[in-house]
Amino acid sequence: MPTEGIRAAEIIAVGSELLTPYRVDTNSLFLTEKLNEMGIEVAGKTVVGDDRERLKNVLSDALERADLVICSGGLGPTEDDVTREAVAALLGRKLTRDDALLRQIEARFRARGLKMPSNNERQAMVPEGATLLENRLGTAAGLWLETESKIVLLLPGPPHELKDVFERECLPRLQPRAGPVRMVTRVLMVTGLTESDTDDRIVPIYKQYDNPTVTILAAPREIQIHIRGKAATEQEAQALVDELAERIAEKLGKYVFSRDGAKLEEVVGQQLLLARKTVAVAESCTGGQVAQRLTNIPGSSAYFLGGVVCYSNDAKVWWADVPANLIETKGAVSEEVACALAAGIRKRTSADYGVGVTGIAGPSGATASKPVGLVYIAIADAQKTEARMHHFPGDRDRVRRQACQAALDMLRLRLLES
Ligand code: AMP
Ligand code: MG
Repeated sequence: MPTEGIRAAEIIAVGSELLTPYRVDTNSLFLTEKLNEMGIEVAGKTVVGDDRERLKNVLSDALERADLVICSGGLGPTEDDVTREAVAALLGRKLTRDDALLRQIEARFRARGLKMPSNNERQAMVPEGATLLENRLGTAAGLWLETESKIVLLLPGPPHELKDVFERECLPRLQPRAGPVRMVTRVLMVTGLTESDTDDRIVPIYKQYDNPTVTILAAPREIQIHIRGKAATEQEAQALVDELAERIAEKLGKYVFSRDGAKLEEVVGQQLLLARKTVAVAESCTGGQVAQRLTNIPGSSAYFLGGVVCYSNDAKVWWADVPANLIETKGAVSEEVACALAAGIRKRTSADYGVGVTGIAGPSGATASKPVGLVYIAIADAQKTEARMHHFPGDRDRVRRQACQAALDMLRLRLLES
């Protein structure tokens, strides 16, 4: 076991499917988050296929560099699941059958009215000296192995199983052995500014600090500012992070929609809930995405009344009472029609706020005066109906996501006004 506490960890994701374009290793993201919270840095990670010799090499390298190595995957019952064998071979441990574990695996099958296939017996093979980590959600138990100076953990591949085993069986054992440093991360969420604009505004502030560190991540019309601090205790780390987070949030003002990583639809939902207001939407180019995001939030029935996807001109007339002649004279993608959608759906549903979205998501449908990415978004309430014109860059998917984000943000800002 590492004597001075675990400082550096490495993660090995085992699975040939993770080397194809069809599956990504997400387990290491979860593990990294948990390890970081304990102050354990992830010094490296590797993806390796289901191959005994390659896994042995990768593991051997990782053990040179890290005190803790966590492998995920390859503990299944089939011939291609080789993690157990590779690790036992590398560490020079014999594999023996654990009869109690075998009976547990058999019982899992019996509980589902099935007979255990004989290849599941492999999952009861345990390397000498290993501690079993109970897996309540599957047949592959995790394994905890220690050498004089290192810890090796083998965890099941399915993400929900890995999370459960790690949180219940590994965290409590690792926590007391983590090094003396605690790490805290806080996420500020920003919209309405570009990545470089955000950075320009805040770089003079965060440049003054070595700790916390600041990382800026960009998504369509959303910037995340990750502020990560280290200290001897969690409270101290939190205090360092909070001080910088508040300075940055202050500087960015209304562009910060959340100071704790909350999504835009959660923030808007909270605002509506607090104000006891309701909303309805009439969406064209976003095809229901605004409604979908709002209703992703549990409890949204308290403020979301409903909405329509009015794709055709007729649907805009039928369902949101947009005057047909307005569409003829101004065009379906226009400020006037966006306003009519917002006001129309508001009136139809008796909501406090109406949201209207109309635009050209592309790749077709553009004209000389109305290019792909042109989107009008309107918000109507009892006082006023206002639209904004946007030109969103990117392909269809990105245009739609930006439009949705901008619509939610426009509603957020309107709610802030009142
Ligand atoms: P295994 O334990 O290798 O049999 O993995 C079972 C399933 O878990 C695989 O088919 C994947 O879908 C999933 N899986 C394995 N490793 C990972 C990983 N690193 N990240 C996300 N999913 C994984
Ligand atoms: Mg596998």
